[in-house]
Amino acid sequence: MSDRPLVLIPGRIHPRVRDRLSDRFDLLEIADATAADVDADRLERVRGAAVSGRFPASLIERLPKLEVIGSFGAGYDGVDVKAAAAAGVIVTNTPDVLNDEVADTAIALLLNTMRQFYFAERYLRDGRWEDEGAFPLSPLSLKGRKIGLHGLGRIGMEIANRLLPFKVELAYHTRRPRTDVDFAYHDTLVGLAEAVDVLISIVPSTPETNGAINAEVLAALGPNGVLINVGRGSTVDEPALIAALQAGTIAAAGLDVFADEPRVPQALIDLPNVSLLPHVASASVPTRDAMADLVVDNIVSWFDTGRPLTPVPETPHPKS
Ligand code: NDP
Repeated sequence: MSDRPLVLIPGRIHPRVRDRLSDRFDLLEIADATAADVDADRLERVRGAAVSGRFPASLIERLPKLEVIGSFGAGYDGVDVKAAAAAGVIVTNTPDVLNDEVADTAIALLLNTMRQFYFAERYLRDGRWEDEGAFPLSPLSLKGRKIGLHGLGRIGMEIANRLLPFKVELAYHTRRPRTDVDFAYHDTLVGLAEAVDVLISIVPSTPETNGAINAEVLAALGPNGVLINVGRGSTVDEPALIAALQAGTIAAAGLDVFADEPRVPQALIDLPNVSLLPHVASASVPTRDAMADLVVDNIVSWFDTGRPLTPVPETPHPKS
């Protein structure tokens, strides 16, 4: 039997993760996190794991020798970090290496939502410019907007830094104000929505953020208001958003994330005042490669030095 640690990969993962891990570790690749039909004696030898997506408590329970889970992505809501912490398992994520890409996407989605470039390009491609004349003026513009950031962490700050040259006013809501920025702070989300006419959400999926952008927040954003979500779909009450877009309670929305991916409600697709992306904010080859490397580097660092590079706050190392 090999003396290399056994690393579990439940479900699909970026091929670079698998390739680089296979240089250093024995791999146990299984179909998904249910681990149905996987022999207990194989699972019992697993010491590390790399995952893109779900890693539930029921799987952690079946891995008595598990030491570290390398989760692919900045958000790690698919991993039961509470169960991991209780079992003494370190969880790592891939922060920072995707900040620029996700912030760039947020700006692109914002401009696309305001100025309807997708519809304009389709108009050209369909030959309508020649046949019917100029594309209709976009009702909305970024000019003179007040933008509220729901979340001002690693990615939120990059979005804010990109927005400053657009000559817009910035404000934000987080649970605790930052001491290193002078944007207006609002201690409630509804207060922020009242004060701005664009709301950009870039918060993690947590019980607190679940459904936080609800009918009340959308009404506060108002009929000229625009919602951009590049965080998690669970943050938005999707039926309330659809109703608000249909009724003109808000003007438009740009969404990269949805409540039940990859299923997107037909009612959203049918709306003219939305820009919809299939969760691609970090999805470039260089950025996904960097994320893959950080997954692997965390696991290698753990087994080489006993230290993870980027543990999540719920499983700190050293333990605080
Ligand atoms: P950070 O942890 O650096 O920042 C999170 C921010 O959210 C902080 O400002 C935090 O402030 C705030 N926040 C957390 N909970 C709440 C709450 N209940 N109410 C208000 N604000 C809150 O994370 P990142 O910036 O790296 O990433 C943010 C999220 O973006 C990820 O968790 C992920 O879900 C999503 N994401 C989406 C991507 C995509 O492909 N669309 C790609 C990458 C990330 P405070 O703690 O003071 O409340």
